[in-house]
Amino acid sequence: MIDTHTHLYLDEFAPDNGAAVERAIAAGVETMILPNVDLATLEPMRRLHGLYPQHTFMAVGHHPTEVGAESARAQLGYVYDELSQHAGDYVAIGEIGIDLYWDRQYRERQMEVFGLQMDLAAGRGLPVIIHCREGLDEVLEVIDSLEKVPEGVFHSFGGSATDVERIRRRGDFYFGINGIVTFKNSGLRDVLPAIGIERILLETDSPYLAPVPKRGKRNESAYLIHTAGYVADTLGLPLDVVDEVTSASARRLFGI
Ligand SMILES: [Zn+2]
Repeated sequence: MIDTHTHLYLDEFAPDNGAAVERAIAAGVETMILPNVDLATLEPMRRLHGLYPQHTFMAVGHHPTEVGAESARAQLGYVYDELSQHAGDYVAIGEIGIDLYWDRQYRERQMEVFGLQMDLAAGRGLPVIIHCREGLDEVLEVIDSLEKVPEGVFHSFGGSATDVERIRRRGDFYFGINGIVTFKNSGLRDVLPAIGIERILLETDSPYLAPVPKRGKRNESAYLIHTAGYVADTLGLPLDVVDEVTSASARRLFGI
């Protein structure tokens, strides 16, 4: 099984971040994609990947909640540097996107930073990992302005069937499904058929959004199995089919 979005390199797992990777492997989650957040997370992410080069893959990008007042180019300096120095180390640009839930102050700057990173991905032939929270109109506006739309995943997807359709009209996108789908009052289970198993990627977003029965605890990649079980039950599919189809999609999208 592949956890397509996990931050096991963060301090929440210190001092032994590797133990969380090993618990995941032991639980059958043999592959993990580590998306970057900002300049400060680059080094711990690279360090954890260095310890488990067969089991982890990395994405580099500047997260929307980290966007500030500085010019977009200046904020992305480290992303450009990292890609020019270590291009082969990265399977995607991410996570990138729009987040207006916490702060609307830098809305325009977020759009600019997101657009530049979408161009970067398209230019390099890399997929994108999109974080979109209360910003779908903005994300789609940026996508509509692009010359070339990269492939990618809307990670931590929690939208409606209409949102799925609006996104799919824009391109070859997948939907990252995590612990949200296991929450009692989540309407996301009703949306899964509109997405379809062929377009679903499994993720944890560790250390956040732990699935039932671990809800409220620190999340980790080993818990992916619970989310996979809910997806299987909801779509009426055997668990091994869910594993096979979503893993094949992740391998194809990220070229791993
Ligand atoms: Zn994330």
